[in-house]
Amino acid sequence: MDLEARLDLLMSLAADDREGPPTRIADAPASGAASTSRLPPRLRHTRSVGALRPLNIRSLRLRGGGRMSLMRVLMTNACSFNCHYCPMRRDRDLPRTLLKPEELVRIFLEAHRRRWCGGLFVTTGIPGRPVKVMDDLIRALELLRETHGFRGYIHVKMVPGGEPAQIARLTALASRVSINLETPCGASLLQIAPEKRFATTLANLESARAQVVRQWGEEADGRPRDRSHPNGASGMTMQFVVGATPDSDRDVLAKVTDLYAGGGIHHAHFSAFRPIRDTPMEEHRAAPALREHRLYQADYLLRTYDFGRDEIVFDTRGNIPLERDPKTTWALAHPERFPIDVRTAEIGELVRVPGIGPATARRLVEERPRTTLRGLTDLRRLGVITKRAAGFLTLAGRRLAGVRWVEQLDFWRAEDEVGAYRFVYQVSPGTFR
Ligand code: SF4
Repeated sequence: MDLEARLDLLMSLAADDREGPPTRIADAPASGAASTSRLPPRLRHTRSVGALRPLNIRSLRLRGGGRMSLMRVLMTNACSFNCHYCPMRRDRDLPRTLLKPEELVRIFLEAHRRRWCGGLFVTTGIPGRPVKVMDDLIRALELLRETHGFRGYIHVKMVPGGEPAQIARLTALASRVSINLETPCGASLLQIAPEKRFATTLANLESARAQVVRQWGEEADGRPRDRSHPNGASGMTMQFVVGATPDSDRDVLAKVTDLYAGGGIHHAHFSAFRPIRDTPMEEHRAAPALREHRLYQADYLLRTYDFGRDEIVFDTRGNIPLERDPKTTWALAHPERFPIDVRTAEIGELVRVPGIGPATARRLVEERPRTTLRGLTDLRRLGVITKRAAGFLTLAGRRLAGVRWVEQLDFWRAEDEVGAYRFVYQVSPGTFR
């Protein structure tokens, strides 16, 4: 394969799947049913320009405002492992290719020079020994940071099985390191990835995490960040495949919150399992995309809304009900907490109202001493999604909605938020976040 073909393949496999409904990316242009217009925006022009194209560049929202685009690429789609759910598993017939560290660096720097991207996300299969793959990742980051002086954002996905010194070196060079846990416990990992060991992955995560926590501590003490060696200061991420094993959402979120408690982790990723053609799990039922979406919403409640993990409402199987978002489900399960009055409620009460986020709650609390809030129009102006919130609120003792909130929320259909999801994929667009 020439460089263009290799890049095409490796970038499409590193695509992020969190935008829009699942789409058959690999064969979309030829299928008719899934035309290029249904592809996520970053993949729509894959065949219309040359090798160094702005393909698979994802916009990332930065803390404190602003956005940055990331080039996402796999170093190789070759792998010696045989994970049952994975499109790149050893036994699957697939064109295999790789980018050498020098090639990856050259491509990224050229795309960066053209202002197509501000940062890099790099992930990889594991052909041969994990320590060799870690060496290649380190080589790429050393070239970027120490040879070419790149000081921007680099997110690198570690492979499980690296040596402690390699993990320390990779973390030192990266803005963010991540690792795929896949499941919340070792027993279920064995079911879908018999060659992987949960304890090894977790130990690798803990090594990197300790370094990130040290870095955060030093920054809190006033030591400025070395942008060439940021020590993973953007915080770690980790990924779970959801629905490939019997683990419930409660199991997954319990593991997530345990890991958050140790610090150094920015957030978790959840990837709804999708059956991949020519894999042992081809016949396994896909997990609803909506389940993944609900897990992200619950994770947000834990990280941003100050919910405790015992407050997330689960169904009898331990999963988050799909019909409504987890905050609304919680609110409906706690009628004793509502309605609350906009003029007097504390910020912690306001953020519990469906349709009011943390920024809006803060704005309401700041504005109400100097503004007379008269009704829904005033609340809407301050950012309240009144169609959702009105039934949970009063204003100076007056109800803001004529119907009870249960009836009001029935106008919201869960499937309006996330599209249809039953699909068998050639490759999974979301395996490699
Ligand atoms: S999940 Fe990772 S280790 Fe397993 S087969 Fe896929 S690329 Fe290889």
